[in-house]
Amino acid sequence: MTEFGFIDHIKELFAALPDNGFEGIGDDCAVLPVGEGESLVFTTDMLAEGVHFLRPATSPRELGRKSLAVNLSDVASMGARPVATLLSLSLPADTAGTWAEEFMLGYRELSEAFGVTLAGGDTTRSAAGITINVTAIGRIADAHIKRRSGARPGDAILAAAAHRNPLPQVAEGIWLGARSEVHAMMDLSDGLASDIRHIMERSGVGAAIDIGRIPLAQGADVETAACGGEDYKLLLTADAAAADRLAADFRARFGTPLHPVGRITGSGKLEWLENGRPRALDWHGFTHY
Ligand code: ADP
Ligand code: MG
Repeated sequence: MTEFGFIDHIKELFAALPDNGFEGIGDDCAVLPVGEGESLVFTTDMLAEGVHFLRPATSPRELGRKSLAVNLSDVASMGARPVATLLSLSLPADTAGTWAEEFMLGYRELSEAFGVTLAGGDTTRSAAGITINVTAIGRIADAHIKRRSGARPGDAILAAAAHRNPLPQVAEGIWLGARSEVHAMMDLSDGLASDIRHIMERSGVGAAIDIGRIPLAQGADVETAACGGEDYKLLLTADAAAADRLAADFRARFGTPLHPVGRITGSGKLEWLENGRPRALDWHGFTHY
């Protein structure tokens, strides 16, 4: 079974149980309306040694920042403001001292930068390898929530370019959440070629991507840019008539562009275009297992 096949299976298995007011599985965060026009959003992510990182290659400080950043990005991609996290660590004996302290300094740095409190967690010993699990909680006005399911045929598809070193686009996500012309939003984690399919499935639409408009990192080719897992960038759809204005306002506010990379269509399919002509490409993003 693929990762997404397994998630669909889980979803079906629990479909008949009470939802207790939650909009559950399938978006970047689960959403719980709490009254007075506000909702809480919840997301969780796991990082496992040997799968997501190698101890010699990643400093504990950097890992502390990264494990928080992926969650803040998921909260921001709903348009929400992250307010708190829960942190669970499973640590082998040889990491209990300096490694764990350095990890927490990195985690604190980013928590401070984004004004997020650490509300709890769990700490256990591990028999094999480090495992890190972070749950993040955000708050948002109901009217600002951006779901993967909001895309409409005719929408422009826009990708927000990351600024400097990979930081989650928290202020950007909150700002885009407040713009009514933004219809759907998510954060890129597996690459455009894979992630746009989540918007297509949840919205019941197709998409046409113009490969000449995909932003390229320095020296990268377009297939790598379309299929690579470049984290923390926001992917959104917006009313096409308002997209230029949106991008101009975004640039004025953040100093970085929103790249128009294509259109939402009614076809239900993912199409690739080059100079306006269809190209038969079998591009897929990163898959987990
Ligand atoms: P993201 O890349 O934004 O973190 P994922 O691709 O990991 O999202 O997950 C897709 C959706 O499936 C999310 O809504 C997530 O909450 C849900 N999900 C993933 N794994 C599980 C699981 N083991 N049990 C329940 N829901 C899950
Ligand atoms: Mg996400």
